[in-house]
Parts: sequence; structure tokens; C-alpha cells
Amino acid sequence: MTERTFSIIKPDATRRNLTGKINAVIEGAGLRIVAQRRIHMTEAQAKTFYEVHKERPFYGELVETMTSAPVVVQVLEGDNAMARYREIMGATNPEQAADGTIRKLFALNVGENSVHGSDSVENAKIEIAQFFKDADIVG
Ligand code: ADP
Ligand code: MG
Repeated sequence: MTERTFSIIKPDATRRNLTGKINAVIEGAGLRIVAQRRIHMTEAQAKTFYEVHKERPFYGELVETMTSAPVVVQVLEGDNAMARYREIMGATNPEQAADGTIRKLFALNVGENSVHGSDSVENAKIEIAQFFKDADIVG
């Protein structure tokens, strides 16, 4: 079923000019980039976005990392887009990521792991709404 998911190309990746290479993996996997914008996340945006992790020990570091340089926020569309993107992202820790995945190819470590992808269709809707207006998504 065609669905949408939310993606972020994180600061460690934009800093190393990897936006195009990551987009090539995304498109190569059959996912369409139907909205995309480069922003510098504010602390408030990062805190809201990662609120589910606020009790975790790495929360402060995560907010700091996500606001350290620009990111590219994206909406991806395709067949089972949420699960498909999780698959091509690879495991959170790049040491555990499968060959050919974005994190295996590009991530530096568990904190600087190059990309975010929604973990459920429900969360994808919430995350997309934090950064995009419906009119800016052209499927
Ligand atoms: P994922 O991004 O794979 O969905 P999580 O939702 O568990 O992973 O964590 C959100 C983000 O928090 C990760 O992508 C990573 O940037 C960061 N993170 C997770 N675990 C750690 C950790 N042990 N140390 C530092 N940062 C972490
Ligand atoms: Mg997650």
C-alpha cells in the first residue's frame, strides 16, 4: 500500500555533503522524495521532535547534535514506505547495520547515524505535520 514516511538527513551527513548520496540510496530503493527542505533545527524543534526520548541518558546530546548544523527534512512516498525506509536505513548503531544500508555506508557512530526515519505510520503523520504543510507535499 502506498504510504508516506518522514525522514531527516542529519547534521553529520549534511556536514560531509552526503545529501545527494543518501537521496540516491532512497530513490534507488523505489521511494519517491515528495517534499524536501533544508533547515537549521531550533532547540525547541529538536526537543519537541525527540520528546519520546526525554528520559533517556542521551537526550541532551541528541538535541545538541541535531541542532549543530543544518538538516534536510523530507517526506518519502512509496509502497510500505515506513518499513521500507527503516530497512534501507539500517540499525540505529551502524556497527549492527546490514551491508548496503545508509547507516552502514555513511554513519559515524550510534549518535551521529546520518538519518532518521519514522518508526510507525502513526508517528510519520505526526512528524510530517511538525515540518510540512499539506500543500508543500507534492506526490
Ligand atoms: P532510530 O533513529 O533508529 O529510530 P532511536 O529512536 O532508538 O533510534 O533513537 C533516536 C536517535 O537517538 C538515534 O537515531 C540516535 O541518533 C540517538 N541515539 C539512540 N541511542 C543512542 C545512544 N545509545 N547513544 C547516543 N545516541 C543515541
Ligand atoms: Mg526512532
